[in-house]
Amino acid sequence: MDFFTHIESEHHKERPTHHNDRMDEPRPLAEPPRRAYARLDRFDPDGAGGGRVAYDCIDADWFDEVGREVRWLGDPSVAEIGERISIVEEEQDSEWAGELEGVWFELDFETGDSEVEQYLNLFAEPLLRSMSAREAPPGKTDELTAKTGFSEEIRDASEGDIALLLGSLPTPGPAAVYDVGQGSSNAVLRDGIPVLYFDVGGGATSNTKTYPVPLRRFCVTEDPPVVLSHWDWDHWSSAYRDRRLLDLRWIVPRQSGRMGAVHTRLLGDLHSRGRLLVWPGHLTSISVRGLVLEQCTGSPGDRNNSGLALVLEGKVDGKDARMLFPGDAGYDNVRSAGGDFTSIVIPHHGGRTPTTQILMSDGLGVGRLVLSYGGGNAYWHPFPDVGRDHRRAGWKRRLHTALRDEQGLGHVHLYWDEADPAAAPPCHGQHCDLSCHQR
Ligand SMILES: [Zn+2]
Ligand SMILES: [Zn+2]
Repeated sequence: MDFFTHIESEHHKERPTHHNDRMDEPRPLAEPPRRAYARLDRFDPDGAGGGRVAYDCIDADWFDEVGREVRWLGDPSVAEIGERISIVEEEQDSEWAGELEGVWFELDFETGDSEVEQYLNLFAEPLLRSMSAREAPPGKTDELTAKTGFSEEIRDASEGDIALLLGSLPTPGPAAVYDVGQGSSNAVLRDGIPVLYFDVGGGATSNTKTYPVPLRRFCVTEDPPVVLSHWDWDHWSSAYRDRRLLDLRWIVPRQSGRMGAVHTRLLGDLHSRGRLLVWPGHLTSISVRGLVLEQCTGSPGDRNNSGLALVLEGKVDGKDARMLFPGDAGYDNVRSAGGDFTSIVIPHHGGRTPTTQILMSDGLGVGRLVLSYGGGNAYWHPFPDVGRDHRRAGWKRRLHTALRDEQGLGHVHLYWDEADPAAAPPCHGQHCDLSCHQR
């Protein structure tokens, strides 16, 4: 078993039908490491002066001995790397870590008394450990940096490649914001079928329990491309729940300076399939038949605010209308975030963003404000003041993916006309679990 093997947590597991059938029991995890090299992946402030730190880790003893010979940690031919990566999470009552995102640390689990959770698998319960952390030595930092992120052979796509791909898609209709627990996954629909995904994330590590039990299969009928807003596991983790998503074409932002070994494994899995398109460095935005992809303007070290955003353009009663899917980027960092919008998905699950403005609602009856998060998540999203600021900006009708119906799902559909019939998947849920639960 490796880090990406989809284990259903105790919370999700169905009762085994045979008492002596142990096949569904997870195999024992690899020996937990004594030390790890870890990139401080992100800090999520809790709004009360503290927050949660996540480290993206590779076993240090393994890296020092075997990893020396490995050219790039994304190399899928070195399968054992999957058993050498982990994620460590720690509650903090200060905000120091916010300044250190992207820095390499050495974590020592034999000394120190900081209590942390170590996830040897993206979807399983953590080990409770204690550790001390110090910055990795400079030579080691250089070696780790060279072996993570985008390897040299992964070149940018051309603007033409991306235009061609977007141009080949059916004309967009309504949109969907899926209930994936604490995370994000959206789609542009045509005849109820996803023709483009914007993120395929979901609750992972400490938020795995927020993922909805009934969502097992996404829809790949139209071979829809996946646009990744940015490299955070709550925006891509469901590709390892339904691995058919890994086989789709992916458009990803180049955020090399911030990627540890876990993200690098996803990049390697995508690159090896030969369908990866890396957003070109010079391209600020591209617009094809009402589908607009934009490079966000945050500094390259600021992962949430320097990825990709999606704008959909349509008509409401013959007038121009827009929907915005900003991922985790604050409005100030989204190029077309001026004026008003018909519908938006609130940035960063209703958590903190560095923004000076709140986008206004255009007041159309079909418009919605959507909050994509999982109830009881470890980050306390959404923050009440973020909701209040949006109410003041005219957003009256709001939908929460976390508010599930009796089927246990809260998928949201966004339309251009309130009279539109529900854009239900034509398979009626026989091949996917993406039906409409709120609109
Ligand atoms: Zn993020
Ligand atoms: Zn996020």
